[in-house]
Amino acid sequence: MKNAVIITIGDEILSGNTVDTNSNFIATELKNIGIKVVQIFTVSDEVEVIKNTLKSAFELADLVITTGGLGPTRDDKTKKALADFFDDEIALDEVTFEHLKAYMEKRGRTEILERNREQAFVPTKCTVFQNHYGTAPCMMMPNGNKLSFSLPGVPYEVKPLIKNQIIPYLKQKFSLEYIVARIVSVVGIPESILADRIENWELQLPDNMALSYLPIGTRVKLKLTASGENEQFLQIQLEDQIQKLFPIIGDHIIAAKEDKIEKILAEILSDKKMTISTAESCTGGELAKMLTSNPGSSQFFTGGIVTYATEMKIKTLNVSESMIERFTVVSEEVAREMSEGCQKLFQTDIALSTTGVAGPGKGEDGKEVGTVYYSIRVKNHSHTFKLFLPHLERQDFTYFVSQKIIQDLV
Ligand code: ATP
Ligand code: MG
Repeated sequence: MKNAVIITIGDEILSGNTVDTNSNFIATELKNIGIKVVQIFTVSDEVEVIKNTLKSAFELADLVITTGGLGPTRDDKTKKALADFFDDEIALDEVTFEHLKAYMEKRGRTEILERNREQAFVPTKCTVFQNHYGTAPCMMMPNGNKLSFSLPGVPYEVKPLIKNQIIPYLKQKFSLEYIVARIVSVVGIPESILADRIENWELQLPDNMALSYLPIGTRVKLKLTASGENEQFLQIQLEDQIQKLFPIIGDHIIAAKEDKIEKILAEILSDKKMTISTAESCTGGELAKMLTSNPGSSQFFTGGIVTYATEMKIKTLNVSESMIERFTVVSEEVAREMSEGCQKLFQTDIALSTTGVAGPGKGEDGKEVGTVYYSIRVKNHSHTFKLFLPHLERQDFTYFVSQKIIQDLV
């Protein structure tokens, strides 16, 4: 479970004039998605105090949420504290300014005062979550693998920001799980009889596990997958379950050793005598590395190419320039063309491609960090997918994307 700290900022809370209802609301919403609030601070509108509290908060938790101190009527204490704490500068964010102008115009306020414009100034490293119920933007700051969100103080603005934007975002971000699989190869029992014999075993599997059958020739491969936060724990869990299988069908099990998903794929490709190739951008060769991590991979892996520059995607993979212009280079369409080009180049049954923004900066075309499109082309059909993995460190990013693609193939 992830931990969070809430910081409510405002002299009016400390003086007793305002009752802090924000932290109560936020804590409840976080609890609903499995994030536990471990401490709530209430602090005054002072830069130094806010900075020190941020420091303590990040020592305690993965997620820090602050409310208050962003209004146009006072010095921007929270923003200044954020910029100082993250060693960042405050600059005008055009998108936020446009949003602010539209927000004010809708309410019949055409004159934009300097102090209004100032609200569109945010730390340069932040991602803005636009506020549809007020003029102070919500700012998300990455801090390594941790995150902070700074919201205005008005409860009427806090509630929709939390409910409609931050909770869905966190759900997606923190539900990122490892998936680990083991294959048990079984011989001498037809699939239907096997299913009957292991029915009770299957029924007692924990909720985070799933079983599938892969009949290959006279063998049946049982694929058992487990998902969760701790990879090592998953391995132990899988091993436990496989051990329980032995008293039931032990005589028929010929292999139950493979645990890495890439090894499982290697076996399937070799069995099916299929070949594979890769054209990578944002994964920088990680996918090819995974595919070649086992001995014997030359049987199925023909080759891989890393086309990092757009120009190389055009030159070597025949991605059309007009497609890039129309959809940008980080797009479903380009991923698909890359896999087509890759298949032609390497003459393989399967071709994989990736294009995305690994960060830390946004992509040239403004695509959010963490956006990835990948394509799996099998024979004459391409299947494209989108992933959004914001604020993973680069190494984790390339790893997770490559793992995900391999899992899709298995
Ligand atoms: P604004 O843009 O409205 O000025 P702000 O971010 O500056 O927002 P504050 O000035 O700190 O926020 O607070 C605005 C209003 O919200 C005040 O009326 C205050 O009483 C209320 N408020 C602030 N913090 C809380 C809280 N934790 N719980 C409930 N109400 C709060
Ligand atoms: Mg205040």
